[in-house]
Formats: sequence, structure tokens, C-alpha cells
Amino acid sequence: MINQKIVVIGGGESGCGAALLAKQKGYDVFVSDKNAISNKYKKILKKNSIRWEECGHNIDEFKNANEIVKSPGINEKALIIKKLTKLDIKIISEIDFALRFTNSRIIAVTGSNGKTTTTKLIEYIFKKAKYRVKSVGNIGTGFCMQLFKKEYEYYILELSSFQLRDSSFLKPYISIILNITKDHIEEHGSFDNYINSKLRIFQNQDHTNHFVFNSEDAFISKIIDKKKIKSNKYSFSSKNELHRQNHSFFGKLKIQLLTNQNQLTMNINQLALQGKHNIYNSMAASIAAKIMNIENNIIRDSLRDFKNLEHRLEKFIKIYGIDFINDSKATNVNSTWYALESINKPIVWIAGGVDKGNDYEILKDLSKKKVKALICLGKDNMKLKSEFKKHIKVIHECDSMKSAVDMSFKLASFGDAVLLSPACASFDLYNNFEDRGNDFKREVKKA
Ligand code: ADP
Repeated sequence: MINQKIVVIGGGESGCGAALLAKQKGYDVFVSDKNAISNKYKKILKKNSIRWEECGHNIDEFKNANEIVKSPGINEKALIIKKLTKLDIKIISEIDFALRFTNSRIIAVTGSNGKTTTTKLIEYIFKKAKYRVKSVGNIGTGFCMQLFKKEYEYYILELSSFQLRDSSFLKPYISIILNITKDHIEEHGSFDNYINSKLRIFQNQDHTNHFVFNSEDAFISKIIDKKKIKSNKYSFSSKNELHRQNHSFFGKLKIQLLTNQNQLTMNINQLALQGKHNIYNSMAASIAAKIMNIENNIIRDSLRDFKNLEHRLEKFIKIYGIDFINDSKATNVNSTWYALESINKPIVWIAGGVDKGNDYEILKDLSKKKVKALICLGKDNMKLKSEFKKHIKVIHECDSMKSAVDMSFKLASFGDAVLLSPACASFDLYNNFEDRGNDFKREVKKA
């Protein structure tokens, strides 16, 4: 037993994982959550004899702590953080706490969209190449939680902007930024803060590390070209950018990867993941694999047979010649743009939910060309209706998934697609995007 006390703020996946890891390493541990802790995590804490409190913080528990570990959901404006800063107790993030206990290689992935798809794809390629690898972080299994359960030689670490904002010691072997679009601005205070949190992914890297980025992304390229970056740079885009070393690109038919003078070409129609956004994701994942010297054949096979994840452009059924596509994970305008872009048939589009200050401008041209009807599914559809009334001829409002699905059957014909791609969060009607996507699939199958 180390004679030190750790208090963990937050009793979810990250906090509970940090508590278990701390306990395993011999710390005296206490978990404190402002809200109720779920039964699943209470059971785990109890089983491991970890003390906890919920629905409030008792400051006395913090006063004799040597360190505080903070879950990514808690920001510096939280009252408890302000109080602790005054008390001068060291606060570290769950990711930084995990990093203390592992020397394994880390491939870190961030971006506004495509993190989970790319993280899983990298894990898939690495597994095919027989690496002992595990995806962790924002993807579901917390980093600490995984370290508590079992160590791997390689971690593919999905990182949200919040995890990056709070991490000071991260030094990935490979870091990847997929794209940056306006998201989570309210929580970060400004768009600049959001961008800066993403850029932290390479801040500690040195010349032995690698940094992969999308050079076509306006925000990323503008900043990267000005910044001094110590790691080796690899870029990808849809253009052959001759001024860049180690640049990979795709055209109409092929992707062409270049990493340290080593090439890989592949036909786009052989990629398992369809849509332009997935070409970017596939390139980012393969560049990481090439950096690790994984054979071209293994990379090609993986890109060919990887199975798309649930709730991301998931074509789950065809009824009366109509494709039904579940893209419930599209919680912002950019991901919905890629969904509309990738479908080449008339679309009955189901959208709406909690609008996080969306700017719908980029969707208007595509909607005019492709969307035959819009079904608004949310508690408040005013903004959606008024934004699209000039661009989409048929607009209906529904207050439940059942009525939205019934309406979609009335509006769609043979050869059309019905797409759930909300561009909004799900919290007005559902607990999360999974519940929303599952409800959609259930109602379609029942109809
Ligand atoms: P994240 O983990 O960043 O939320 P996901 O892989 O879960 O990303 O995908 C979320 C949504 O974004 C889905 O609707 C998906 O089709 C879309 N998407 C995936 N990759 C990209 C990308 N590179 N650019 C834009 N949208 C994307």
C-alpha cells in the first residue's frame, strides 16, 4: 500500500476505471460524483471495496488527498474544481493517470468526426497483422479501466477534445487528426479553444514519433503549416499535393499512399467503407499501419473486409426496393453532409433533435439536389423547418419515431433511400444516439 490518497471526481467509465487502477496500485481511493452513480459502477466499486459518494461532494474527503483524478466530463468551471484549485491540491486527468502505468505504444486518434470508425479500423488492421492491440478511451472502454483489466502492447486511443484539453503528458507514437469542424464550442468557451485542445495531440511528440493529418481540412492545414512540429509528418487529401513529403491522396478510382518512400495503391471500389468521409478514414488508418511497416497485403485485405459500425451510415434493410439507412451517430451538420453526399438516389431524410447551434448552410445545396422530403423528428423543429423550407418541397413534422417511420413509408418509392441522419443530438427524445438508432431500426422492421 502506497501511503497516499486519491480522490476521483466522477463515477462513470473513466472515473470508476481510474479508481480501480489506483486501488490496484495500492492507493487509498475515494470516488465522488455530483450526480447519481449508475448501479453498474456502484456494484464494481463495492466489489473492489472502494468508498464512494454521489449527488454531491463532501469537501472534507478532498482535503487530505494527495492527488485528484478528474473525469473528462468535468471542466474547470465546475464549482468543485474552483474549490480544489483554491485548496492547492494537484488535479490530473484520467488519461494522464493511465499513462503513469503503461509503457505500451499509443496510436492516438482525434477529430470532430470519424474517430470511432478510424480507431476501430486501425485496431482491425493491427489485429490482422497479429499485434496485441486494444482500442480504448473515448470509444467505450476507458484507458484506466483497460489497464486495470489487462495490459496490451499497443493501444489505439480515441481522444475527445475534452480528454485532450486535460492531458499534459500524452506522447503518442503516432497521432492522428482527422478533421476539425465547429462542435462543442459552448463547452470549450470558443472555437479557438476547441481547435487548440485538438492540437495538443502532438505537443509532446519528438522526432521519433509520427503525426498524420488531413491537409485538405481548412482549419488543420492553416495551423499545421505554421506550427513547428517535431514529429514526422504524413498528410492525406483528395489532391496530389506535390509540395508535401509523405503525402497520400485519392482520385476518382484509386487511393495512393506514400509513407517514407513506400507506396500502396488500392481501388476505391474495393474499400468496405463507402462514402468520401470513409476514404479519409481508410487512408488515415492505413498510413498508421504503413508507419508500423505492416504489409500492404494485410492492409488491403483489412480495408476490403472491415465491417462498418452500427449507427454510422448503416444500410440495415431494403423493403419494397427502398434502402433504409441508420446514421443516428450523425449528431452534427458535417457528418450529415457526408451522409447526403454518399447516397446517389432520392432521399427521404429524417433529421432533428437537440440543435447545438447548427449552421445548416452547407446542407442546403445537397438537400435541394437529393432530398425529396424532410421529416423533422424533434421536440422543437422550428429552426429545421424554416432553414429548409426553400430547399426541400415536402416537409413534415413528427413527434415519435413510429410516426416518422410511417411517414417515410408513405413518402418513399422504389429506388429511394430513407436516411436517419439527424445532424442533432438525441437528448430530447432519447438517452443517446444508440437508443435513437435502435428505435429507428425496430420501427422500420415492424412496419
Ligand atoms: P466520432 O467517433 O468522431 O463521433 P464516428 O466514426 O462514430 O465518429 O462517426 C460519427 C458520424 O460521422 C457518422 O455519422 C459517420 O458516418 C460520420 N463520419 C465518419 N467519418 C467521418 C469523417 N471523416 N468526416 C465526416 N463525417 C464522418
